[in-house]
Parts: sequence; C-alpha cells; structure tokens
Amino acid sequence: MRKYFIAGNWKMNHSISETIEYCRQLRVKGLKNISSDIVLFPPSISIQSMMKTLEDTPVKIGGQNMHQESDGAFTGEISSEMFADSGCEYILIGHSERRQYFNETNELVNKKLKKALGSNLKPVVCIGEKLEEREAGKTSDVILEQLKNGLKDIAKADMQNIIIAYEPIWAIGTGLTAKPEQAQEIHSLIRNVIKNDFSEHLGKNLRILYGGSAKVKNAKSLLSEKDIDGLLIGGASLKVDAFYKIIQIAENLTIN
Ligand code: PEP
Repeated sequence: MRKYFIAGNWKMNHSISETIEYCRQLRVKGLKNISSDIVLFPPSISIQSMMKTLEDTPVKIGGQNMHQESDGAFTGEISSEMFADSGCEYILIGHSERRQYFNETNELVNKKLKKALGSNLKPVVCIGEKLEEREAGKTSDVILEQLKNGLKDIAKADMQNIIIAYEPIWAIGTGLTAKPEQAQEIHSLIRNVIKNDFSEHLGKNLRILYGGSAKVKNAKSLLSEKDIDGLLIGGASLKVDAFYKIIQIAENLTIN
C-alpha cells in the first residue's frame, strides 16, 4: 500500500545551527507515530548535524544534487557514493533550479539517475513545464520528453526505487500553485507512462509528488487527488510549524 511522502527541499537555506534548532523543534512536536514517509533535503554541509539531531526518528535525509562521477577533479561537487556513505537515503535529481541555473539536461538527469541507483540512493526525479510551455499547450509534450529521456534505459527492477516529482516551474517559489485538478491531470499522465513503458504494477505503485508553492492552505486539496502521493515543499518546509502542519494533514488523510 502506498503511503504519503512529504519532503522538504531547503535549497540554500538554514545554517548548521538553524538546522539543529529546527530539528529539535520537530522532535518536540512529536514524530514517533508518523506513518507517512518524511524526508528533508538540507544543504549538504548540514546533513551530519541533521542526522544526529533526528536520530531515532522516522525522518529520512537526502542530498539536493550529486555529480555523475564517483570521484575526481570536480571542485565543489559531491558524488552519490559520498551521499550514501553519509547516511543519506534519497537524492534530488533534475530540480528545475539545477536545469535552469546549471544547464542540466534530460541526458544529464539520466546519467545521474543511473549513478544514484548504482549507489543505492532513492532518486526523486523532478520534472515540470515552464509557463510559456503551458500557455502554448505543450505541457504534456514536455513531460513526455522529460520522462522518455530522463528514464532512458532504466531497468524495471530499478523503477520501484524512483520517485517522480511533478513541479510546474511557474509554480515554484512564486506563490502560484497548480490547481489540484491541473496537477492531477499531469500525475495521471505520468502514472500511465510508467504503466505503459515499465509495467502496470510499477505504474500503480509509483509515488508521484507535487511541488510548486505547496503549503498548509493547499496541502489537503492537493493530497486528496487520486494520483498525488505526496508533496515536495520548498518555502513552506523552512518553517518547522508549517512543515509539521503539512505532515499532520497527510497523517489525517487516507491515500487513494
Ligand atoms: C521546490 O523547490 O521544489 C519547491 C516546490 O519550492 P516551493 O515550494 O517554494 O515552490
């Protein structure tokens, strides 16, 4: 049975001391009986402190970006092996900010994805259309292209460890959220692609997160959609109260 998946992408926010304080507060709020999957993606420098502060809680930790090589002269980069060794279970791949500011292509996403899987990390692969693509009626084409090239040559056995996050770029950090039915339409498309290209079972069990100005106010309506299995939350995950409230909303809903 699928469980909700609530993830916080902190991007380049929160120092180590702020991270420790946030995690202490999250612990105090109560994490023991949480049944949803909760994952935080802090800046890499804070991973160890977060891990220590959240020890013995169900919260899992992931990296925000990884290099496609194992090691070498790539100043400033971190490999999938290093994230796995640090205790991370998840890794974000292909976030739109990486695509936009660091020129990451679907081909690079595919390379990173294979590398992450080889290191036993669970990748959260981000896809989504730009505003002009939506307005030109090209949303489905963009999503199909991102899936086709991003998931190229991925083995069926690996597909069960991949999570897809649908994040319309025009909704990220803008305060604009996709209407639940707009998000549902694309989530359903994604699920059908995985059913057709991999298997009915893998498509049915695939976890598809929505991201793009998800917050306390809209979490319930988004999570109530049939094919929305969780949320990837940027801004609203930076405040422990808001993040915890969204966790509680997921805990009080039954997944379809
Ligand atoms: C994100 O960074 O993945 C994101 C969805 O950000 P926000 O929630 O701030 O739109």
